[in-house]
Amino acid sequence: MNESQPLLKSEVRKRPRFSWARWAAYSTFGILFILLFNLVFLPRTSVQRDWRRLHHVKVSFPDLERSLFQNIDSNRIRDWSYKYTQERHLAGENYPLVEWTRDKWQEYGIKSEIVQYDVYLNRPVDHAVNLYDESGKVVFSASLKEDKLDQDPTSNLTDSELVPTFHGYSASGNATGKFVYANYGTKEDYDRLVELGIDFTDKVVITRYGRIFRGLKVKFAQDLGASAVLIYSDPADDGGITEKNGYKPYPDGPARNPSSVQRGSVQFLPLLPGDPTTPGYASKPGVDRTDPYFSIPSIPSIPISYRDALPLLKQLNGHGPGPEEIGDGWKGDLDDFDYSAGPSVVDVNVFNEQDYDIRPIWNVIGRIEGVIKDEAIVIGNHRDSWITGGAGDPNSGSAVLIELARAFGELKKLGWRPMRTIILASWDGEEYGLLGSTEWGEEHKRFINAHVLAYLNVDVACSGSRFSASASPLLNDLIRRVAGRVPAPDGHRSLRYYWTGHDDKAEPHIGSLGSGSDYTVFQDHIGVPSMDMGFGPGGNDSVYQYHSNYDSFHWMDTYGDPEWKFHTTVAKLWGLLTITLSEQEVIPFKATEYGQSLADYVDGLQDKLEAVATEEIVRVYGQLKDSITSFIDKAKEFDAYTSRLQNEYSHDYPWYRFYKKITLLFQIKIANFKLFKIERQFVYEGGLDGRPWFKHVVYAPDRYKGYAGVLLPGLSEAIQDSNIEGIAKWTDIIQRAVDSAAKYL
Ligand SMILES: [Zn+2]
Repeated sequence: MNESQPLLKSEVRKRPRFSWARWAAYSTFGILFILLFNLVFLPRTSVQRDWRRLHHVKVSFPDLERSLFQNIDSNRIRDWSYKYTQERHLAGENYPLVEWTRDKWQEYGIKSEIVQYDVYLNRPVDHAVNLYDESGKVVFSASLKEDKLDQDPTSNLTDSELVPTFHGYSASGNATGKFVYANYGTKEDYDRLVELGIDFTDKVVITRYGRIFRGLKVKFAQDLGASAVLIYSDPADDGGITEKNGYKPYPDGPARNPSSVQRGSVQFLPLLPGDPTTPGYASKPGVDRTDPYFSIPSIPSIPISYRDALPLLKQLNGHGPGPEEIGDGWKGDLDDFDYSAGPSVVDVNVFNEQDYDIRPIWNVIGRIEGVIKDEAIVIGNHRDSWITGGAGDPNSGSAVLIELARAFGELKKLGWRPMRTIILASWDGEEYGLLGSTEWGEEHKRFINAHVLAYLNVDVACSGSRFSASASPLLNDLIRRVAGRVPAPDGHRSLRYYWTGHDDKAEPHIGSLGSGSDYTVFQDHIGVPSMDMGFGPGGNDSVYQYHSNYDSFHWMDTYGDPEWKFHTTVAKLWGLLTITLSEQEVIPFKATEYGQSLADYVDGLQDKLEAVATEEIVRVYGQLKDSITSFIDKAKEFDAYTSRLQNEYSHDYPWYRFYKKITLLFQIKIANFKLFKIERQFVYEGGLDGRPWFKHVVYAPDRYKGYAGVLLPGLSEAIQDSNIEGIAKWTDIIQRAVDSAAKYL
């Protein structure tokens, strides 16, 4: 039997077969839908916002600016000024003050260290100035000291707590002889006296301060065979704020105290700053040292007050050529002296004993690490002072720098991390000859050359009420713009408005850098765009008794800045410049003004050049002018382009224009590279003729003035010397520099 029994007859329902394809289709559709939904509603963002989010940069620029201004406190600045001005702090003195500065910065969250250099410098031991009569008897001995004043506690410190009156880098010596009055001791003054038949051999020269750097007054005398130099402060150079005009002398009024003495360095600054025994390299322990007399004097010099100078000067009355014969600008403002040049009939003795040695100096270097590691801004001020006080020079700047460090610390508490690294420097040894900054610059030349975008210097933040700034023209636009955002010290609108003398239409004038402060190694040796700024005396301000004991806390608190508002203004400007340079994505340099400055400098030399040069050279000079014109044309376009990039950077784009954002990032990277390179093209490795440490072909200190700048130094000196070969050489060097810089535009 074939038994078949249908078991269960049921319709086996076919389970629908699983379809991968359909699943995939649905899923894809779903994901796309979600994605599209998101994209449609995805906010437009700027590259700026994306970049900041990526790097966890939390604080916006307007918040930074607001917080910076809020945190800078004039009462605290007054406290810092007091702290810095209580004890002697000559170069290489007062290590506790160095540590205090470092510890303060550390306290504000800034990684800081003390950096030592071993430099050659002098300390005063003894000095005397004695006047003889015709029989050889001493009839007057100069006090060589400043008066102790009841109202000014600094002036009342014991002699060992005060710094003697002396010149940094003056030579030891003991000279006796006839003396000559040489006015300001400028090149022209000496030339004029030589023309009038005065023989300087073995003479003691008396000059007044002013017009040029004091070291050059000594150099020119030395070159003429003089045996010693005395330099005094004539009231004629006090801007009319004199006893004769009815002003009482300090401490009862704003005029100069008759005993006030200007100390200072007599290094030959326009030849070589820094340690005179280590030209071009850092003074680290054990390095080779060279003969220092290329850049320091070999004859003694002593600074004196006009009260001490007068008994000597009176001896010249009626002797030698007088002001009428010599010419304009010869007469000062002392009664009882007719400003005859001499020589004297009687002798003077100048005795100067200095102790020379290799001594340590200490910079403090602090660092706020930026997001972009390979770009840095350096800001610096020197700490060392010629006197125990130094409330103006340099500690108005030091007080501001500490307050700025504190304000940066407050910004860090908000979560701020600068975009570019910020380096803070408290230099030592500036007064002797820019020692601390120069040695540091020489040691870190490669790093600075490759990474430092700009150097912002404040030496004297305040010694009066008139604001001034000098800078590489690349920075001019930034300085004016930022000054327009900083509140004015007098409360009327902005610092920019105050700076132009309350004239809305005027462009504030920005000078060119010479030398005389710590920007020199950055601007003139390495080619880093630099600036210097501060409030100096002007108008009816009190006389600033520069490098004298009366540059004290009491003077500052009574006459200089009783409300501490000028200090506060500098702190805000310095701070805002620093964070703008640090935070603005496209480096805020503008090249057009650089080109226009070059054109002005070249035009300024044209007549003098034509007077001495050959036709061929005048033709080549025309080519240099063409190069500058083409630099300006390219610069205008480039400046417009970089402004556009910065705008686009903060402009919001929809997601699908991501390629635009990527392109923008690259464009900015390239533009920044170019902006960084412009100033470097003006460095000529061979250096200036006769002073190879100075390598910038556009800016250098004037060889006959020292502080003041000379423009296109190589060329202008060759013209001055009627040196045809030199004119040809420098026209070519400058043209190549201009062409090379134009390639980066
Ligand atoms: Zn100074």
